[in-house]
Amino acid sequence: METVTLNNGVEMPIIGFGVFQIPDTETQAAVEAALAAGYRHLDTAASYGNEEAVGAAIKASGIPREELWVTTKLWIQYAPTGSVEDNTLRAFEASLTRLGLDYLDLYLIHQPLGDYYSEWRAMQKLYAEKRARAIGVSNFHPDRLVDLIENNEIVPAVNQIETHPFHQRRVDQDLMGERGVQIESWGPFAEGKNDLFTNPVLAAIGEAHGKSAAQVVLRWLTQRQVIVIPKSVKPERMAQNLDIFDFTLTEEQMAQIATLDTGASQFFDHRDPAMVSWLNSRHD
Ligand code: NDP
Repeated sequence: METVTLNNGVEMPIIGFGVFQIPDTETQAAVEAALAAGYRHLDTAASYGNEEAVGAAIKASGIPREELWVTTKLWIQYAPTGSVEDNTLRAFEASLTRLGLDYLDLYLIHQPLGDYYSEWRAMQKLYAEKRARAIGVSNFHPDRLVDLIENNEIVPAVNQIETHPFHQRRVDQDLMGERGVQIESWGPFAEGKNDLFTNPVLAAIGEAHGKSAAQVVLRWLTQRQVIVIPKSVKPERMAQNLDIFDFTLTEEQMAQIATLDTGASQFFDHRDPAMVSWLNSRHD
């Protein structure tokens, strides 16, 4: 399994399995199938409501803990009269309990919203106590990321952001590279929006290599050293999405994919006031 080296020297698998929007009742079977297909890196979140099912699949698999990479994410902590730091420590323990683990490989702040400076201070403690092998953030635009870095001791190891052919994030990736933050893609297929799976540019490149548009996307991202965590509930697609390391895209093909960038989200903007309000309404 190919890995990338994070800013603390830890090796993180470049491909993993995402479980967003897999119903809780179906998650255990999906994760068991993904582990059987060869995935060793799992990406969940407290807000997905399926950490327990992910944990059950890990346990059922019998795979030694040290062979797995498990990421989960902290949802926005609401404590207007209390301590967000304390809440964060409690939320971490609750996630670990649900997952049935005694440490995490990666713990991420899910959204750049609320008092994430206090959340980060708590995460730094968890990292110092070796409860998480790496800590990072998600959905941080460059300005927020730099501000967090400038005001804290530990530089996030990872920033997990929407990254796919229609929103390529090259400027973000360059900035993160300068700051020692590893880019990780969420929604590598843009969840199929904009007809990604039948896009003529991706399909033609795939045909040249005997691969699908989905495989071309994952290869394009991993050739850019972007970590990917595709989601599928179908075992044949799980296997297909892992089978991307036996071909290489040419510079010309990389340049063709670069033309697909729209520079905009296919989902929503984390700076849209209505979205900020909606995300904040989803407190624990
Ligand atoms: P993806 O871009 O991974 O797309 C998933 C969709 O693509 C599903 O409908 C799946 O269908 C389909 N699909 C998967 N593989 C193939 C294939 N080979 N051919 C055709 N269709 C395929 O979307 P996600 O939003 O799930 O993103 C991936 C992961 O990123 C999430 O699961 C989550 O872990 C993370 N994430 C993080 C966010 C954050 O805020 N930090 C936000 C969103 C996601 P089917 O299942 O039927 O195969």
